[in-house]
Amino acid sequence: MHNVQHAASGGRPLVLFGGTFDPVHRAHISAARAVSKVLNDAPVHLLPNAVPPHRPQPLADGEQRLRMLELACADHPQLHPDGWELAQPGPSYSLVTLQHFRKQHPDRPLVFMIGADSFANLHQWHQWRDYTNLCHLAVVPRPNSPLADNAVLEAFPETDAHGLAQQPYGLRLMLKRPFLDVSATAIRQALAKKGHCPALDDAVITHIHRHDLYNVAEHTPFNQS
Ligand code: ATP
Repeated sequence: MHNVQHAASGGRPLVLFGGTFDPVHRAHISAARAVSKVLNDAPVHLLPNAVPPHRPQPLADGEQRLRMLELACADHPQLHPDGWELAQPGPSYSLVTLQHFRKQHPDRPLVFMIGADSFANLHQWHQWRDYTNLCHLAVVPRPNSPLADNAVLEAFPETDAHGLAQQPYGLRLMLKRPFLDVSATAIRQALAKKGHCPALDDAVITHIHRHDLYNVAEHTPFNQS
């Protein structure tokens, strides 16, 4: 891997990875490690959301989800579980989180990493164009993800890792891997049926069993029993 040069005044890239992490799984960790690695071991902050605005509420509370992240990240010094969103009142909006980190790091390359499924919906996010003045995007591929909207692709010109490190925001890095068919939904369903979950870290599985998490079937429109 060639050495990524940093933006003259801004320093090394800082990566932010928001999610529900209910629970954190191997695809999250592999993706975070891959983005860190391509950016020359840049630090990645993993931020569990407090009240996700666009989806059903998590089964595990914020403290448990943060604890599972700490366990899953324990052997990866470049990954930093971060409870900032959990400490804020009300719903978690990525835009607000990015504005907070931007204030802390006015010139630094800030990289918002996102799975391809979420990236495909970005054009429906509140004030999505404001992201172009706040952060870069690092998009991780995910099986069965729809294509992204052209307006988003045009708003964030594609670059490579070197290009990303040269300016503080506005560009897009497309990763080729990992490409893992793993989801927290499938994991919760398997746990509710006492199934096997190879996509969970051993320490996370132990924590889930010790605290009796995810032992109930979820109530969804297709599962009202
Ligand atoms: P759920 O099934 O509960 O929706 P999830 O597995 O999608 O959960 P989230 O915590 O909702 O996990 O996702 C956080 C971020 O991680 C999102 O940007 C999502 O796109 C990304 N992500 C999750 N799983 C994968 C995967 N297998 N490959 C690539 N990105 C992923």
